[in-house]
Amino acid sequence: MKFLKLFLLFFLFHNTFSQNKKVCFSIDDLPVVSYGNNDPDFNLQLTDKLMDGLKKYQVPAIGFVNEGKMYDSIGAVISYQGECLEKWISARMDLGNHTLRHKDYNTTEFKLYTDQILEGEEITKNLLYLFGKEIKYFRHPFLHVGATKERVDSLDLFLAMYGYTVAPVTIDNDDYLFANSYQKAINKADKVLAVKIGEEYIRYMEAKLLYYEKQSRALISRNISQILLIHASLLNADYVEKLAEMYAKNGYQFITMDEALEDSAYQTPITKFGKYGISWIDRWALSAGKKGEFFKGDPETPQYIADLSNQKD
Ligand SMILES: [Zn+2]
Repeated sequence: MKFLKLFLLFFLFHNTFSQNKKVCFSIDDLPVVSYGNNDPDFNLQLTDKLMDGLKKYQVPAIGFVNEGKMYDSIGAVISYQGECLEKWISARMDLGNHTLRHKDYNTTEFKLYTDQILEGEEITKNLLYLFGKEIKYFRHPFLHVGATKERVDSLDLFLAMYGYTVAPVTIDNDDYLFANSYQKAINKADKVLAVKIGEEYIRYMEAKLLYYEKQSRALISRNISQILLIHASLLNADYVEKLAEMYAKNGYQFITMDEALEDSAYQTPITKFGKYGISWIDRWALSAGKKGEFFKGDPETPQYIADLSNQKD
């Protein structure tokens, strides 16, 4: 009887604990990270697959758009690019601004950078409007928010003036290195290698998740509502289902960006600035004076993935 009670207690505790885990999936560089593949079918099918995987696990994701990819040389919207973006809206996903052409705030003058924020919102804004929604979130390319307090503050002020909220990231990772290697394997029709990379990717992403859970508990004494960053690549289209499955297996519920930002952790002050593009958990930790030791154990990208990604075709 005592055993049963203990078991029930454990079960209750375990369940409550698991149900508190929450993650928002944010997906950058829309419409598609195509590695130069301009075949409309490739882009459309990739987007369909990504949407299907997200819908299967009821993941209310947000995609961040680089509208500069959507215009042809005379400034008209490329029709399949527009269709890709419509698929996101039709699948009930949210969309945000990731600047027109993915400029780096560390090396771009303020006026040009902010012009590209406004020029980069037109298509997305109109599309959201048709579905009764408004554009709300901004994601900095490379997660470069400004290397000094002045640069950060002036951009934050600009964003607030135009109704934008910054979309932070807590689970930062090198998914783009895996995605580049994966696309190369697919281009060479090397299915064995592609599957190997895909499986390695899920293991790596689980290690990253566990690492940032640990960092969150160490810094904030609990596992906060996490925000994952991935990109709109073929790898993620093919593996988003497995990725969501892995998160679900770890006890996660999928939430929107609005819901994630309700977590008071996102009010943690940031007082240290640099040229880096890092997780917000790392920014808070640096601001709290944490040093090298605290950041130990961050999973690294396997060397062969980095090498494959760097290889010339
Ligand atoms: Zn990006």
